[in-house]
Amino acid sequence: MSSTISGKVIAITGGARGIGFDTAKRLVADGARVAIGDIDEVQMKEAVTELDITAYARLDVTDPASFAEFLDMVESELGPIDVLVNNAGIMPTGWFHEESDKITRRQVEINVLGVMWGSKQALQRMLPRRAGHVINIASLAGEGYFPGVAAYCGTKHAVKALTETLRREYRNSGVEFSCVMPTFVNTELTAGAGKPKLLRNAEPQEIADAIADLIAHPKPQVRVTRLAGKVSQLQNVLPRR
Ligand code: NAD
Repeated sequence: MSSTISGKVIAITGGARGIGFDTAKRLVADGARVAIGDIDEVQMKEAVTELDITAYARLDVTDPASFAEFLDMVESELGPIDVLVNNAGIMPTGWFHEESDKITRRQVEINVLGVMWGSKQALQRMLPRRAGHVINIASLAGEGYFPGVAAYCGTKHAVKALTETLRREYRNSGVEFSCVMPTFVNTELTAGAGKPKLLRNAEPQEIADAIADLIAHPKPQVRVTRLAGKVSQLQNVLPRR
């Protein structure tokens, strides 16, 4: 059990499955007091049973009021939030010109605006205490270029830039900002996507371990890569047209 994680109040968005769920599992094992929020209430019920936690709420990260209710719940159930992990995200695949406007908009709303609402509301709660840590899950797509998930790449570049800017803006505030840049991971998010050449998929537990390490030893950024080459050499996740 990590003494720097034990007892911390940690809220995770998109915690019902995938990386968010495995992160919750790892942090519960480390003695943290974990809360999850997710838009999928059925999956979340299964998750909280397995995690054996009581702090959870339906959360739509695109809605600032929903985010505020989630964070209120966390603080009333568990106490002041030490760490917020902005993890919820989606990655539809396809040719950009064929993507519906609704799906393009949804990616920006969840992957970018959701992280902005979370970062802003966490700051409002953490700044008066001069303590806290916001961990935003970007992607290697946030520094590379993956044809086939163009809008997703755009959103993840935005998350990386947002996090780095907030880290500098609030440098002396006591609130830390970090960005996690995972490689492709074996979750439902990537189930329908081809795998870029040069890349080995990671397991969600590996990303959970990286997040736990970030909480114990804050640093600006962690990259989890399984690359046999350079990010810039990554190929299509779609079959060539
Ligand atoms: P996943 O699809 O397995 O899980 C995502 C979770 O987010 C789901 O439980 C889903 O219900 C929830 N969610 C979706 N929309 C939401 C909303 N509006 N409000 C609240 N919750 C919502 O995905 P994952 O692979 O675990 O991805 C988690 C994060 O890691 C995402 O931000 C993703 O972009 C990032 N990431 C994933 C990979 C990968 O290869 N899987 C690689 C790099 C980064």
